[in-house]
Amino acid sequence: MRSPLNGRRAGRVAVVLALPLALSLSAMPVLADPAPQTSEVAPDRQSSTEQNGVALLRVIVPDQESVERLNDMGVDLAEYKKPVDEGLEVHAVLSPEEAQGLRDLGIDVRDAIFDQTDVAENRVARQEALAQAAEAAADVDTLTPLRAEWFTSLDNEHFLSVEVKSSAIDAQTVLTATWDSGKDTAPDSGGTTTMSRFTDAGQYMYHRFNSPLALTAVPTKVTITSNRGGSVTVPVTKWLGEKRKAPSKHYVADFVDRYMDPTELTGRITALAAEFPKITQIVDLPNKTNGYRRAAQAQFGTATASTFYVSSKAYGHEGGNDISVALVKPDTASAALSVSVSGKDVVVNLGTDASAAINSTAKAVVDALNGNAAASALLTAATYRGNAGAGLVAAAAATKLTDNLKAPATVSRDPFQMKALRIGKKRDGSKVGVFLYCQEHAREWVTPLVCLETAERLVRNYAKDAETKKLVDNLDIFVMPTANPDGGHYSLYDYNSQRRNMTNHCDVTNGDPARRNSWGVDLNRNFSVGSVFDGYNGASTTCTSDTFAGPAELSEPEARNQVWLTNQFPNIKFAMNTHSYGGYFMWPPGAYKTAGRELLPRVDYGTENYFWKASDHILSAVQTWRGTGIWPGRTGPVTDVLYSAAGNSADEHWYNRGIIGWDFEVGADVYNPETKRFQAVGFQPPFAEGHEEAMEFAAGQIGILEIARSFSDDKKQPKSELNVTGQTGTSATFTFKTDEPANVYYTLDGSRPTLNSTKLVAAGMRESAQQITIDKTTEVRWFAVDIAGNVENNYKPDGNGKNYRNEKVKVGDAR
Ligand SMILES: [Zn+2]
Repeated sequence: MRSPLNGRRAGRVAVVLALPLALSLSAMPVLADPAPQTSEVAPDRQSSTEQNGVALLRVIVPDQESVERLNDMGVDLAEYKKPVDEGLEVHAVLSPEEAQGLRDLGIDVRDAIFDQTDVAENRVARQEALAQAAEAAADVDTLTPLRAEWFTSLDNEHFLSVEVKSSAIDAQTVLTATWDSGKDTAPDSGGTTTMSRFTDAGQYMYHRFNSPLALTAVPTKVTITSNRGGSVTVPVTKWLGEKRKAPSKHYVADFVDRYMDPTELTGRITALAAEFPKITQIVDLPNKTNGYRRAAQAQFGTATASTFYVSSKAYGHEGGNDISVALVKPDTASAALSVSVSGKDVVVNLGTDASAAINSTAKAVVDALNGNAAASALLTAATYRGNAGAGLVAAAAATKLTDNLKAPATVSRDPFQMKALRIGKKRDGSKVGVFLYCQEHAREWVTPLVCLETAERLVRNYAKDAETKKLVDNLDIFVMPTANPDGGHYSLYDYNSQRRNMTNHCDVTNGDPARRNSWGVDLNRNFSVGSVFDGYNGASTTCTSDTFAGPAELSEPEARNQVWLTNQFPNIKFAMNTHSYGGYFMWPPGAYKTAGRELLPRVDYGTENYFWKASDHILSAVQTWRGTGIWPGRTGPVTDVLYSAAGNSADEHWYNRGIIGWDFEVGADVYNPETKRFQAVGFQPPFAEGHEEAMEFAAGQIGILEIARSFSDDKKQPKSELNVTGQTGTSATFTFKTDEPANVYYTLDGSRPTLNSTKLVAAGMRESAQQITIDKTTEVRWFAVDIAGNVENNYKPDGNGKNYRNEKVKVGDAR
């Protein structure tokens, strides 16, 4: 049967082929190359004979006139045109006969972009998707509860957070959560709501609430039902609120009363080191920054083609700001363009034509300036953003170049000496090290105050507070309040939204003064693990992008300083990278490749559980200041709860040196009980709010130090048990449980378990332990090891002892 399309095709072919050859050749002289072109023409792709093999083909013509000619001939052109070396590339829907007809006219018809084979593939894929959807609709889905928690925030407001994963991953799956209003109440008495489907990089992650739901009563259970038939009921547990020892009555806090620039911050930690020499010292980082400094610039002109700009060779403060440029129109006719320099004053004498009008183009002035030895010793000129500069320039009075920098003279324009404050009674590398660093992103003004407040609390409470003394006596703490001092100065004094450092890696095309707020490297994308250069997502190679990764991994001195510090002090085991805003607590992995959402390796099951347990402690500490409850949905691996951040520093520390690399985003959304909405706080909230954030997250950093101390003191061996969770006549399933976060290594073949044996893994993202299935009675041998390296029963995995755990799991009638 002929489709309507076939009919249309046939008509079109007739039109083309009906053109008299002579007429078409004379009408299209540009195409009338008598030489046969068949050798240059790629053969058509194999296409099915269905619908006459009509395909979308590439056609190359010399110019626009030829495109119009094709149009006049009735060729079915796509709305697409691209300049190529030989002229213009257009695309035409053509049958094989039509294509041959055009080739016979000497037209360069090339390969297919899309043909009937592609159509067939698309149809097959669509049928498969339909079949899958039908199958999914027929099957009841399985719901895996990930988390169901209630928590308090701020003025004792109560919230519910639920995460559930459906086995039906398509967008038609709708989950509904229903909860009670306390013990012995109706299952739906608390409320009911539709959950939202969370996807990332095109993949289904799980269902959740967009933000936690306000509660009037604390529920005991939540039931989640799916429109696919699945249903699951789970207990609601309490998130955060771990009981903390009250600080001693002598405990002092609150040492920040304003946003501070990096010079002030560095001055403060230097003063602390001088005041507390027995428990602190300053560590000078070896790589100085490029400095809070810029070339001086001036731009002339208004229209793109007639605009040019100049940049001084010396930095502004080193003489660039003293240079001036004037564009003078001579009174005479037929004057030649020339440049004269007197001291730092550059005068461009513009050229004129016979009627004494200016005839110097922007390009001519640029060339004259760059070609004059005295001028080019002072400055470089360029047309505007790569424009050819054919427009005529206008006269301009002498204009001073400027570096546009507005910081007061207290801020040095020289390369900045970055410093960290090392705090510890015994600073010889024998104590567990913790690296707290803040303000990688310049505009996150609260973050350096968090680091500074933590440092002040440690040194000023050391003498009177026993808990503080334990931390300082037993840890080796490195506090770097500002990891991006140049950008920090720029953000405070020049452009408040500056995220990156100040180093300009753009060429002259993006070097004009209006681009000055678009330069710099995103330091949290400049590291060497999972970077954009390795193909990971979430960073840019464009010099003006706010996530510009730099010209290469570790190109920036600020990033190299972090690497140096963690290499220099290998006792560092924990690191906290403090950012803002949103209220997050995160850990690796922090990056994936977009194709297939291929993550950096996830941390193992025991470590993941350790991070969750640590987050409960650390976030409970955050909550002590004013009640802020960080959401469970904003706790977890960066890739699971935020996004992919290629080349970030936490991944650098974890994957290259085994340092537990955590991230804070301070500034949790604040709940407004009147509007019943969470409101974001932004990078630079009014100081009253910024102060609260600094206080609560400094408490969180102290919580991290407590975790580090527990880690260094941990001599307790983990205990584990094997739980059989299912038995049929032909198989059994089991898993392991440990009394503290720990990894379990096991064997099923009767061999002695070692650190090379199979490791228990999570069943999935944010899920509990996997279930292991066996089909015959099996002796399972295993041991557990915690993050501090303590092994259950003091078993030596690499020794010969038999003090591993073992248990027979039975299948069928075996007794
Ligand atoms: Zn940030």
